[in-house]
Amino acid sequence: MSEIETDLDRLAAVQRRIARAARECGRSAEDVRLVCVTKTVPAERIATIIAAGCQDFGENRVQEAAEKWPALRRAHPEFCLRLIGPLQTNKVRDAVRLFDAIESVDRPKLAAELAKEMARSGKTPRVYVQVNIGEEPQKAGVLPEAADEFIRYCRESLELNIEGLMCIPPAHQLASPYFALLAKLAARNGLKRLSMGMTSDFELAIQLGATEVRIGSAIFGVR
Ligand SMILES: *Cc1c(COP(=O)(O)O)cnc(C)c1O
Repeated sequence: MSEIETDLDRLAAVQRRIARAARECGRSAEDVRLVCVTKTVPAERIATIIAAGCQDFGENRVQEAAEKWPALRRAHPEFCLRLIGPLQTNKVRDAVRLFDAIESVDRPKLAAELAKEMARSGKTPRVYVQVNIGEEPQKAGVLPEAADEFIRYCRESLELNIEGLMCIPPAHQLASPYFALLAKLAARNGLKRLSMGMTSDFELAIQLGATEVRIGSAIFGVR
């Protein structure tokens, strides 16, 4: 079997698992968006997944996205490209130009630069706040106890329209307490979107309210 057929088979299997997980907890499969994570995946394989009807894609590096996505967008204008990796302030202009959603906003200086660039360019990607839900020193994200204040700052001081929260829970641990905490932080801030769940734990994330699951290796194979 060719690599592309394999991608499509694995995509279909992931879509079935999402639908089943949603059904099992009384949610509708349409309420859970599959974000295909395409880091390290070449453009021709991505094009096949776009042609299969997927609408949400995640990349974790601005530079890699700049190399692959402008040409894909010319061929298929209808999709939502999401930045799910760390963003340096000196890449904000490129990120606003390239992405339809930025899920890794986690500090005041970055939020302020984003607000400024959106006002300057008139382009307004959707913004998610990334929470360092397991309080891990090596991980990006605002700490859970600082999330309310950071969200308030973004909304009130910068007039940024925050769409939801994103997290990457600690590896090799049961993710459910972390997903539940992210859902609680979102609810008490009136946020409806929860980007949580990856290949190893997306069914659990769906049970706990994920609206976007970010899946790479279950579709494209191990990187
Ligand atoms: C790579 C990546 C994913 C996808 O991970 P898989 O385990 O391959 O599904 C999801 N979210 C972020 C932020 C990533 O960097």
